Amino acid sequence: MYYCSKNSKEKIAHTESCRYAKRMQPRNTIMYKNAIEARNAGYRVCKCCAPIKTYVKKQDKEIDQYCQQAGISCQIDWREGCLKVATSYSQWKIIVKGRDDYIFLYHKNFHRFGINNDDLVPGYHSQKTRKSDILGYLEYVTAHDSYRISNPVQGKAFQSAESHPRKGSKKFRAQERRQKNREKRRSVARVLDLIEAIHNEQGYRQAVMI
Ligand SMILES: [Zn+2]
Repeated sequence: MYYCSKNSKEKIAHTESCRYAKRMQPRNTIMYKNAIEARNAGYRVCKCCAPIKTYVKKQDKEIDQYCQQAGISCQIDWREGCLKVATSYSQWKIIVKGRDDYIFLYHKNFHRFGINNDDLVPGYHSQKTRKSDILGYLEYVTAHDSYRISNPVQGKAFQSAESHPRKGSKKFRAQERRQKNREKRRSVARVLDLIEAIHNEQGYRQAVMI
C-alpha cells in the first residue's frame, strides 16, 4: 500500500512505515494498492522507502557482481517502483506487488505481442517462476536467455531450474554433456574472435606504418 499526499508538489508515494507517510494528515492522504497505480495517478515511489530498494539493498554487492559477469544491466525505475533488467537478448521487470510486497518477474513480449498482456505491466507478461530475492530472478533470466538462444523456436516453453533432472540420472548426464559442448563451442568462438582481433590490429599497425 502506498500513501500519497494530495497537496504535495513532488508527488511522491510512500510506504506505511516511512517517516514521511507518518507525517501526512489523513484527510490529505490518498492510498494506492501498488506502485503502478500510484504512478498512473502521477506519483513516483519514494527513494527512501520503496520496497524494491529494500530488495536491491539486501543483495547490493552480489547483484552488481552478477550483472557484471553475466552482462546484465539492472536499474531501479522510480516511476514504476520496479527494477528494470536488460540482457543483450531480453528485457524484464521485477515488480513489487501484493499486501506482503512480494517480488514478481515480468518478461517483455516479443513474439506474442498483444497476447497475454498484463494490465499492470502493459507490453509484458508475468513469468510463472517465483523467487524470494532478486539474485534468484537474475539467475533465472540468464538461464532463460541461454535456453532461448539454443532453442529459438517459438512455442516450446523454457523450463526453469526447478524441473531440472535428478543428479546422476541419464537425463542429467545428457544435459551436462550438452552444457560442456556448448562451453567448448563458445571458447572456440572466443579464440577465433581473438585471432581476428589480433589480425585486424596488425593490419591496422601496418597501415599506419606505411
Ligand atoms: Zn517514503
